[in-house]
Amino acid sequence: MRKSFLEALKENKTLISDGAWGTFLQAEGMQSGECPEEWNVSHPDIVKNIAEKYIKAGSDMVETNTFGGSRHKLNLFGLGERTYELNKAGAELSREAAGDDHWVLGSIGPSGTILMMGEVSENELYEDFLMQVRGLADGGVDAFCIETFSALDEAELAIKAAKTTGLPIICTFTFENGFSMMGVTPEAYAEKMLELGVDVLGTNCGNGLDGMVDYVKAIKAIAPDHPILIHANAGLPVLKGTETVYPETPEHMSRFVPAILEAGACIVGGCCGTTPEHIKAINKTVRMLKSE
Ligand SMILES: [Zn+2]
Repeated sequence: MRKSFLEALKENKTLISDGAWGTFLQAEGMQSGECPEEWNVSHPDIVKNIAEKYIKAGSDMVETNTFGGSRHKLNLFGLGERTYELNKAGAELSREAAGDDHWVLGSIGPSGTILMMGEVSENELYEDFLMQVRGLADGGVDAFCIETFSALDEAELAIKAAKTTGLPIICTFTFENGFSMMGVTPEAYAEKMLELGVDVLGTNCGNGLDGMVDYVKAIKAIAPDHPILIHANAGLPVLKGTETVYPETPEHMSRFVPAILEAGACIVGGCCGTTPEHIKAINKTVRMLKSE
C-alpha cells in the first residue's frame, strides 16, 4: 500500500515521475486533430499500457491522459459535455496501472484561452476546471499536476478548483529564455505559488534537463522548503522531413540528473519526446547517485 504522497515527499527521497503522454499517443497511432482524452474511452488499453510502461520503467508515479481535459479545451472537439466522464476514465486507467503502490497525478493543462483578453470569464473558467477536477478525483488520483501553465491568473483558478478536493497540488510553469509565454519569471511564479499554498512547485516542457537547472535554482531560492518537480522535454523538437523529432537520447538526459538534483529538484520525470527508455535511464542514474 502506498504512503500518502506528501508523507513520502517529507522523507527527502528522490522520486521518479513518468515521461511524455501526448507524443507517446502519437507514436501509438493517434492522428493530429484527434482528441487525446477521447482515447480514454475509445482506446483504453493503449492509454493504460502507457502508464504501465512507465511504471515498469521505474516511475513512482504516473500522470493521467487528461492534459487537455478542461471543458474549454474539450469544447474544441465538441466534447465539452463529456468533461467529467473523460477525466474520470483517464484517472481510472492510470489508477488501474498504478495499483495500490504507485501514485497517480491528475494532469491539468491550460485551457487555451486568455483571461486577460476577456475570452472567458473567471467564473466560467473556474467552473470548467472544477468539472475536470471532480472527474479526476472521483477516478482516484492521489494529487493534481497542474502543468505547462504560463499565466498566473489562469493557474490560480485551476489551483482553487483543485483545492476543493483537499488533495495535494503540484503546479508547474513552462519557461523559455527566462520567462513563461505570458511574461512570468520563475521568481514571480514561485512567489505566487507560495501565496496560493501549492504543495509542490516546478517546471516542465522547455529545452531538456540541462535547460531547467537555472529555473530550479531560482524557484528553490524563493521556496527553499518546498519539493520541486521537473518534467523536462527530450530537448527542443526539430523537424526531420515531415516528422517532429526530439533530439535528446536517454543517456544524454540522464547526464544532467546530478545537476538537476543538486539545484534542488526531488521529483524527476520527462515531458514531450521522452519515453520509458528515458525514465529508465533517469531512474538508474538517481539510484546510482543515491547509493553512493
Ligand atoms: Zn512538454
